[in-house]
Amino acid sequence: MTKSTETSNPLQFIKGIGPKRAAALEAHGITTLYDLLYYFPRGYLDRSTIVRIGDLSHHLHIKEQVTIIGEVARIEVRRSRRANRLMLFVTLKDDSGYVTCVWFEGVQWYQDLFEVGEVLACSAFPSEDKYGRAQFVHPDFDRLGGTLEEDEPDWGKLVNTGAIIPKYRSTAELQKVGLDSRRFRRTLREAVSHRLDVIKEILPNDLREQLGLLELRAAIKNIHFPESGSELAAAQRRLKFDELFFLQLMLAIRKQLHKNELPGIPFNQESTLARRLVDSLPFELTTAQRKVIREIADDMKMPKAMNRLLQGDVGSGKTIVALLAMLIAAENGYQVAFMAPTEILAEQHARTLSSLLNGMTVAVRLLIGGQRRKLRTDILEDIRQGGANIVVGTHALIEEQVEFAKLGLVVIDEQHRFGVMQRSELRQKGSNPDVLVMTATPIPRSLALTLYGDLDVSVIDEMPLNRRPVKTALRSEKQKSKVFDFVKEEVKRGRQAYIVFPLIEESEKVDLKAATIEFEKLQKDVFPEFRLGLLHGKMKSELKEETMQKFKSGTYQILVSTTVIEVGIDIPNATVMIIEDAERFGLAQLHQLRGRVGRGGDQSYCILIANYEWFDRRRKKDGSDVLDEKLSAKKRLDTMIETTDGFKIAEVDLEIRGPGEFFGTKQSGLPQLKIANLVRDGEILVLARKEAFSVVEEDPHLRLAKHEPIRKHFVTHFKHLIDLASIG
Ligand code: ADP
Ligand code: MG
Repeated sequence: MTKSTETSNPLQFIKGIGPKRAAALEAHGITTLYDLLYYFPRGYLDRSTIVRIGDLSHHLHIKEQVTIIGEVARIEVRRSRRANRLMLFVTLKDDSGYVTCVWFEGVQWYQDLFEVGEVLACSAFPSEDKYGRAQFVHPDFDRLGGTLEEDEPDWGKLVNTGAIIPKYRSTAELQKVGLDSRRFRRTLREAVSHRLDVIKEILPNDLREQLGLLELRAAIKNIHFPESGSELAAAQRRLKFDELFFLQLMLAIRKQLHKNELPGIPFNQESTLARRLVDSLPFELTTAQRKVIREIADDMKMPKAMNRLLQGDVGSGKTIVALLAMLIAAENGYQVAFMAPTEILAEQHARTLSSLLNGMTVAVRLLIGGQRRKLRTDILEDIRQGGANIVVGTHALIEEQVEFAKLGLVVIDEQHRFGVMQRSELRQKGSNPDVLVMTATPIPRSLALTLYGDLDVSVIDEMPLNRRPVKTALRSEKQKSKVFDFVKEEVKRGRQAYIVFPLIEESEKVDLKAATIEFEKLQKDVFPEFRLGLLHGKMKSELKEETMQKFKSGTYQILVSTTVIEVGIDIPNATVMIIEDAERFGLAQLHQLRGRVGRGGDQSYCILIANYEWFDRRRKKDGSDVLDEKLSAKKRLDTMIETTDGFKIAEVDLEIRGPGEFFGTKQSGLPQLKIANLVRDGEILVLARKEAFSVVEEDPHLRLAKHEPIRKHFVTHFKHLIDLASIG
């Protein structure tokens, strides 16, 4: 426990908190009453739909969704004789009776999730079992924390009070000190009743009234303990407005700061090389590719600096588009910096570019970490003298020693992998160069504006004609030998395969060892007749490159790899992607990994191997509550099976992870949003943007008395983000 907690943490004086819980909260980023009051519920239970278990039979024929709250009395897995499949039965009780919840899909996922004695809220349309009793099949459920016997709140009583119960997010650490959802409820009840005075109104009254927004204190009270759905909605609207207002205020202030920017470079010279290159390609550019190339070329001609996002799903052909832009810059006598997030991707790009530009007088150089000193000195010199026209590299490009003679265009591949600072540092190697950032993550246009200020967006919304959707399947650990048989067949037909293992940071060494051992086993026991390569991030650059080359040339038929191949790698002859422990990967990651196959005309396959027991092992080991994780893992895998559409996948990903993590707002230098959703709250976003910009226009330094609270709030919570956000 830190000293500051013992002496000064104000939370320990709240009823029921004390030093231990205060310390746990502090570790969780909640140090003040203000933080606590801004710890919003993650969801709500509507008491008006809650029924007593004993009354369920009355609801059997009404066909409406109801909720029950009960304690887990029994958990049982049985094999049904008729259907010969495993079924999970969880029996809940309250003081009026018992009801059974049934799962027959994903029994492996759900068993072991629940504990006898814990309190659950389950919602479903009740159905009848074979004895005519009510049962819940695949209900939605929530863990409420506490037990039914505990005095307060009395679930039985709650049922009849007809309001809304807030549910709070908790973690294993918080639960260890008893801070479960229920304890949060009590603590917040206390804070809202007695300490609301720490909340001060921020918005001027006239603005608030004109927009029909609730007062801040009322909003805070009602976000936690609304009496009705409409009270809750009003509270949400007010708090969302605040978040988006300050976000926009930050962008408005940033724009002020940058009003007198340097002029950009007008690339007036048409590129003859670009035309030559297009004519020499073995394929036709898609209509979408042509369209974005036009947009980029037009933008580059303008005397203001280009700041553009090129968006296109995995495999849509962004590299060639970027290359054409690079040729425009080069032919106008400028250098290009092309940054990629991994060494193997940078190497691949350097090779692709060199071979496409074969016979043209454009010098491509590669700069990555770990190159031999002599080579490095030589490359740096070439960059400084201007001999290198296109410099491809990793973040090694932003190191201090790298000086460009005349940098005119910055291209950043997989831009979401870089922080704002890195992007800006690269840009500062030139004098207001044009910037093109590329991503496979679909960001709605309106949102890009918000996220990146004055970024323009070009979208490749079409795949090359020759593509066929990758077939995706989910298999269990037990079915692995069949999966490997399939790999053998494909390899015998001359195709190639990836086998990918996850690496988690905490235990990288252990994992690496596991991957190496696994590799040896695969080579010796499973695929003795084939040539396998091993690739991971900790290998020396040269060995990585050699391994990639051997895979590319077909010397290796199967590449066993960690996620270092996740982004960008382009080997069209590889048609099989096996992902081990697939439940441990994020959705965006899975989509990227799958994107490594299906890049040529052949039918490709992605097989996700799920290791269900992993969650349970973890649960036992660190006592963590893996319920949410387990459910979202299932959702991720289901989504992968259902669709190959990057847009749909991003939507689900956004839903699972929330906008903060999804858009990497931490990385982007934007504040974390707790309640507003950049995608769904478009209407409030537009409103907030308008008001924020007009405040700054009227009062650029927020000096007017009526803006004093806004200024204070801004300085406390956002000032540190201003510099970061000043670059898109
Ligand atoms: P990404 O958008 O994921 O970066 P790449 O630029 O790596 O995609 O392109 C994927 C593959 O598609 C490459 O092998 C590339 O040569 C090829 N490709 C690009 N454009 C086309 C096209 N119009 N028709 C056919 N193949 C194309
Ligand atoms: Mg790419």
